[in-house]
Amino acid sequence: TTTTDFLLAIEDLTVSFDGFRAVDSLTMYIDKNELRVVIGPNGAGKTTLLDLICGKTKCSSGSISFKNKEMTKMAEHEIVRSGIGRKFQTPSIYENLTVYQNLEVSYPEGRGVFGSLFFKTTDAVTQRVHDVAREIQLERFLDTEAAILSHGQKQWLEIGMLLMQDPELLMLDEPVAGMSAKERDETAELLNRICENRSVIVIEHDMEFVKKIARKVTVLHQGKILAEGSMDKVQADEKVIEVYLGH
Ligand code: ADP
Repeated sequence: TTTTDFLLAIEDLTVSFDGFRAVDSLTMYIDKNELRVVIGPNGAGKTTLLDLICGKTKCSSGSISFKNKEMTKMAEHEIVRSGIGRKFQTPSIYENLTVYQNLEVSYPEGRGVFGSLFFKTTDAVTQRVHDVAREIQLERFLDTEAAILSHGQKQWLEIGMLLMQDPELLMLDEPVAGMSAKERDETAELLNRICENRSVIVIEHDMEFVKKIARKVTVLHQGKILAEGSMDKVQADEKVIEVYLGH
């Protein structure tokens, strides 16, 4: 594999805040259809890493290339348009709209042009809303007001709103925080479905959930990668044990 085969290639990435390196010479590659979990103690640089990838924070040096295109100079909206979706911890759904309407308003402007060669644009949107609703398993709730969904369903709806934009890379910050055990299991299944044709980067603290979904884990500590590999491998890593038990 050469670096050009990766969906996302992060090389020697650094960001300093007043001389403090929150992300420090970090190199990391994400494959197509990969589900990568990023863990690490508080302050390790996990959120800052996602902020850098989605363009919310600009790096001090290094490169981020997505589909072989350099992203570090691009504006946040251009990065979204190139296919990177980011879900923050606090949900940003429209409580007083239905599930259907929440998905509909998330359909990107100007995407209907190609579709309208074959369908009326509205049909293309309707089709996409139904496809996404099925993927997030909220098809039965399309006419339900978002406000009365469970906490877990609201989180899935927000993931669905990102899926409406058809991203190739989805970044999620603690997606199962506050969820019931059953909702956590369903979220694991959802992430596995999403990775059939997209890549996902997840920041997560819930180790039971990490074990359930993780194929490859990156452990961050002080802005650097402390360990990377299977859950079994990183759990057995002396440096990782020291960082987690030492806190
Ligand atoms: P994590 O998500 O792993 O808990 P963060 O990425 O939030 O860690 O933070 C990493 C470090 O960078 C922390 O010490 C934090 O205080 C610092 N940091 C993050 N963003 C800023 C900022 N905009 N200005 C100054 N310091 C920041």
